[in-house]
Amino acid sequence: MSPSSSSRPLLPYGWDADWETAFAPYASQGLVAGRVVRVDRGLCDVVTPGGTVRADTEFVVPRDPMKVVCTGDWVAVDPEGGDPRFVRTLLPRRTAFVRSTSSKRSDGQILAANVDHAVVAVSLAVELDLGRVERFLALAWESGAQPVVVLSKADLVPDPVTLAHLVQDVETAAPGVPVLTVSALHGDGLDVLRALIGSGTAVLLGQSGAGKSTLANALVGADVMDVRAARDVDGKGRHTTTTRNLLPLPGGGVLIDTPGLRGVGLFDAEVGVGQVFSEIEELAARCRFHDCSHESEPGCAVAAAVDSGELSVRRLESYRKLVRENQWIVAKTDARLRAEIRKDWKRKGAEGRAAMQAKRGHWS
Ligand code: GDP
Ligand code: ZN
Repeated sequence: MSPSSSSRPLLPYGWDADWETAFAPYASQGLVAGRVVRVDRGLCDVVTPGGTVRADTEFVVPRDPMKVVCTGDWVAVDPEGGDPRFVRTLLPRRTAFVRSTSSKRSDGQILAANVDHAVVAVSLAVELDLGRVERFLALAWESGAQPVVVLSKADLVPDPVTLAHLVQDVETAAPGVPVLTVSALHGDGLDVLRALIGSGTAVLLGQSGAGKSTLANALVGADVMDVRAARDVDGKGRHTTTTRNLLPLPGGGVLIDTPGLRGVGLFDAEVGVGQVFSEIEELAARCRFHDCSHESEPGCAVAAAVDSGELSVRRLESYRKLVRENQWIVAKTDARLRAEIRKDWKRKGAEGRAAMQAKRGHWS
């Protein structure tokens, strides 16, 4: 099934045949499909085939903070009429980025939904911090998005042998993750990154100064701040200036760039941590004791791998650190809330991921 002509204007925003299928019941009720490009205090901006409209989320506001409408969500809004219109339904998410709030009783906060690719930017201008790369990767995997590491500012490492070594180091910290080198300054490597993002939705993660803004500008092909303030016709035909956190890329694909995403921390990322350290989890499965702590137990496959040099001490310690940190977050998070997350979008994320991989073939 190919997307129908009425929804064609949504293609640059990531609309595809699966969204069309998910939306079909609402289409038959006369509702309009759209993607949320910005949210603020109960109102959101939704790109629809007829342009950007302002919409109230009153009817879909739940008590559960995980189900609050966020940038990247696909929704069904009222047809022509009222200003603002109302969001009637939130389509099930494929993936979601959650951040732990700094409050004592930790609540999750949804930062972005339906992200296909999490681009982790790592600056080559400073010494590599593999532990930090692993932390961002845990977060990326946990969201359900496919991570990709971009070693930015590659023009600062002119020696190809040195560059290849740096790529190799990062690859050992990122099993199953493509590692690219990019110079936004010279434009090197951008085509490879664009090809990876394809027609999917991407976010940029990474430390401050890693080159995310520069990369965003290069991908969007303009200064993102200018593009964000796009002029649109709202439901009544007026022109309004809206700040967008979701931008279509010129060659296809979508970039979500919200301020909160940039400083995001782990939030119940047990699955993500496991994926970053997949080789350690595979080794652990071969330990003699099921609950081996890999400290001093006999028959420990992890310790044996460290002894043989197959596994670095650095990586094992980084794994332990992230597992501990995650346990601490889990301990202070409301159990019911976590159960809700697990049963709702996490499951859907896994399904969506499987479907995506089946469709395009696993390229990692
Ligand atoms: P952000 O904090 O992650 O958004 O990082 P920025 O995009 O603001 O970049 C931080 C600094 O790195 C700025 O001074 C940029 O000019 C510089 N920078 C970004 N990309 C490149 C690059 O490809 N090459 C070089 N040499 N510098 C870069
Ligand atoms: Zn062990």
